[in-house]
Amino acid sequence: MSLPPATPATATPLPGAFDCEVLVVGGGPAGSTIAALLAERGRSVLLVEKTHHPRFHIGESLLPANAVLFDRLGVREEVERFGMAKYGAEFVSPDHDCEGMIEFAEAWDKSMPYAWQVRRSELDELLFRNAAKKGARALEGCRVRKVEFDAEGATVEAELDDGAKRSWRTRFLVDASGRDTLLANQFRCKEKNPKHNSSALYGHFSGARRAEGRLEGNITIFWFDHGWFWQIPLADGVTSIGAVCWPYYLKSRTKPLPEFFRDTIALCPALAERLAGAELVSDVHATGNYSYSSRISSGERYLLLGDAYAFIDPVFSSGVYLAMQSGFAGADVVETTLDRPRKAAAARRRFDRVMRHGPRVFSWFIFRVSSPTMRDFFMSPQNPLRVKEALISLLAGDIFGKTPIWRSIFALKALYYLVSLGHLGRSLAFWRRRRFNIRDAGVPAS
Ligand SMILES: Cc1cc2nc3c(=O)[nH]c(=O)nc-3n(C[C@H](O)[C@H](O)[C@H](O)COP(=O)(O)OP(=O)(O)OC[C@H]3O[C@@H](n4cnc5c(N)ncnc54)[C@H](O)[C@@H]3O)c2cc1C
Repeated sequence: MSLPPATPATATPLPGAFDCEVLVVGGGPAGSTIAALLAERGRSVLLVEKTHHPRFHIGESLLPANAVLFDRLGVREEVERFGMAKYGAEFVSPDHDCEGMIEFAEAWDKSMPYAWQVRRSELDELLFRNAAKKGARALEGCRVRKVEFDAEGATVEAELDDGAKRSWRTRFLVDASGRDTLLANQFRCKEKNPKHNSSALYGHFSGARRAEGRLEGNITIFWFDHGWFWQIPLADGVTSIGAVCWPYYLKSRTKPLPEFFRDTIALCPALAERLAGAELVSDVHATGNYSYSSRISSGERYLLLGDAYAFIDPVFSSGVYLAMQSGFAGADVVETTLDRPRKAAAARRRFDRVMRHGPRVFSWFIFRVSSPTMRDFFMSPQNPLRVKEALISLLAGDIFGKTPIWRSIFALKALYYLVSLGHLGRSLAFWRRRRFNIRDAGVPAS
């Protein structure tokens, strides 16, 4: 791993030689959040984005805890305007007769009863323009190519759409480059998650059958033999459909992507029925094996936020929330580093704990979400020891505050292990199958 040098690699530049105090790479939710917060506090911030907003991005389902962050950024009203209210989640399993449902209003803390489904082009543009409104210099069509650190800060080299080159000096660098993982690649500290390995196919449909009234905006998760599907209803009538599959399944593709996607949907009759008569109105996209994290979340003059630090399976729609939350946590570290450098190390340790907390909390459930025991629970959740309330709070993103869910989460995990032991045969079959799926081998035996 080639981390930035601890001692000066170049002559110490004068303070006046800096173009900005903080340069943020990437104008997605993480980058735009931290840029807005720092600019609002009077920092000189340059936010650079390689594309132009509005641009397509996957990740359309938000969590109730996002609302608090939107409030603090002053953008909630706008999100209310274009977002589709999401009061809960529905679960559909081929092994159960009933439909499972969770409602965020039933969480431990009842003050966050809903979230939103959004087009990311709209949300991300809103957050990016908000950063500019708060005083960040926001530049689009500018791809950062290289960052070199020295004792005082960093030199950032970038390329504009027309091929022109730019170079800036910054005191601090924030990597919010998403799955491009600019710094984690440069430092070679990105690790594939050995416990998770999946791929996704997705597209937009018009004319999909939806629930009515208050339930219309709920996300639906359908399990099927090769993974799971999402159905995310957007406010303009379009529905986002995605299949998250084990890699062996995607490798079996012999047809063009749109046809393969249709065939995959046909493997899940409950979803196929909702899409009968619906029309595909977008390209079909595919992403490869995608769970990873970086071994480090910060250094003396840099931070890694959001997907630039870690990516976990999207089954619980946690990505945008964790990315924005990391922006809030990161803003404090940047300020401490710039103003009170002696306290920077402690601030970075706290930041690192926050960055690890989210992925760790969600991952325990992600790894087990398809297990028969967990499926039974999601299909008909019970509330002994307030385990259901605690789980709904967790799924709402209420994991960084003071809501006292952790004993109940511990109890839920204990119950999970007990029930799994009570049904040892099916549990072992699930884990054997899962190990096979993760290993990315050929087509499974059954
Ligand atoms: C299949 C799938 C489904 C998902 N579903 C959901 C969901 O339902 N809900 C949810 O919350 N999350 C979901 N996610 C996750 C979510 O998309 C991400 O977690 C979220 O976008 C992370 O935000 P970010 O700001 O860290 O990165 P991004 O949103 O990816 O933003 C990074 C930005 O950096 C820019 N950039 C990259 N490299 C450079 C460079 N060198 N120079 C300048 N700019 C650069 C990019 O253009 C991009 O705009 C899903 C992800 C996948 C793959």
